[in-house]
Amino acid sequence: MKRREALKLGGAAAVVGVGAALLSGCEEKVKIVEKECPKPEAPVAAPAIVKKTIDMVMVATWPRDFPGLGTGAQRLAQRINDMTEGRIKVQYFAAKERVGAFDSFDEVASGNAQAYHAADYYWKGKHLGWAYFTAVPFGLTYTEMNAWIRFGGGQQLWDKLAGEFGLKNLMAGNTGVQMGGWFNKEINSADDFKGLKMRIPGLGGDVLAKLGASPVSIPGGQIYENLVSGAIDATEWVGPWNDRFMKFYEAAKYYYFPGMHEPGSTLALGMNASWWGTLSKTDQTIIEAAASMENDVMMAEYNAKSGEALADLVQNQGVKLREFNDDVYDSFGVAAAEVFETVRAHSPLAGEIHESFLAARKDLGAWSKISDQAYVAQRNRVLGV
Ligand code: CA
Repeated sequence: MKRREALKLGGAAAVVGVGAALLSGCEEKVKIVEKECPKPEAPVAAPAIVKKTIDMVMVATWPRDFPGLGTGAQRLAQRINDMTEGRIKVQYFAAKERVGAFDSFDEVASGNAQAYHAADYYWKGKHLGWAYFTAVPFGLTYTEMNAWIRFGGGQQLWDKLAGEFGLKNLMAGNTGVQMGGWFNKEINSADDFKGLKMRIPGLGGDVLAKLGASPVSIPGGQIYENLVSGAIDATEWVGPWNDRFMKFYEAAKYYYFPGMHEPGSTLALGMNASWWGTLSKTDQTIIEAAASMENDVMMAEYNAKSGEALADLVQNQGVKLREFNDDVYDSFGVAAAEVFETVRAHSPLAGEIHESFLAARKDLGAWSKISDQAYVAQRNRVLGV
């Protein structure tokens, strides 16, 4: 029997058996008089064939099947399973299926679960630096964020911050520029925010607090009931595609853009750092690739679906689309500067993250202005869009 034919048998036993047969010089007899061939005393384990399953429990801050955020996180979990042919066995738990949305951080930092999919600005109460790795007021767009994280020192600072909590985090999704929010009245000046109870997390909430609003941070799954009951007066969530799904238009008709608070919200795959450290370089690279792909795919899906959803909201649901005027935006700017001073003073690491962010924003902003921004403005002007 030829070696080539023997290999067709497949499986570790066949390969090891033939190897032993070749060594003993009785390869021609393998098939016919197999019993005469000496059996290997202890078959040498073949590492490439041994399937050692690695458990990866992933919790999330999103309701199950929630469009974009939830389906993207679920797609990421499935992708890691698929890329490893189940060798990394990812078990995905949406919000409340294992722990509450905002308990995801502790679940992973403690090692009870290996990973979370979340917006890291939810953890700003633990350290203000977390806000920068989702989105901050007057922050970075999707393309700018990618540039900062990958080439502007952002990932290193994220690693430093996450390391303080026993985590290792990667970009794993993006919503793009978010809408300013849903209101039951027009917003014509900063005064209109006074006394307004609004769902808006992250540093954006701190900005509105400077203008006299009462920001609250509640998980996505609980916003609608609070808005309908009047427990909150206004809310932001994401953009037309997600917001239509949430039916906010049933309780508030004024839909404002653009949101100053989340210009390109990055979603994170946060992992327990000790667990991450036990993975092979191959497995780390697979997870990095899977997360990077979701970062790209989720953004594409948001862009693809937002235009149709917005048209439907305006044409069929009676939504009044409004743009924040320059006076309102100027007030946002003044308040944001005050908030950033608080962040800078929070800790040396928060200050370091802030300085890196500022340098990136200045450089990237100047380039965006004469590239994406200038081109799209001219294209749309000529085409009358
Ligand atoms: Ca949001």
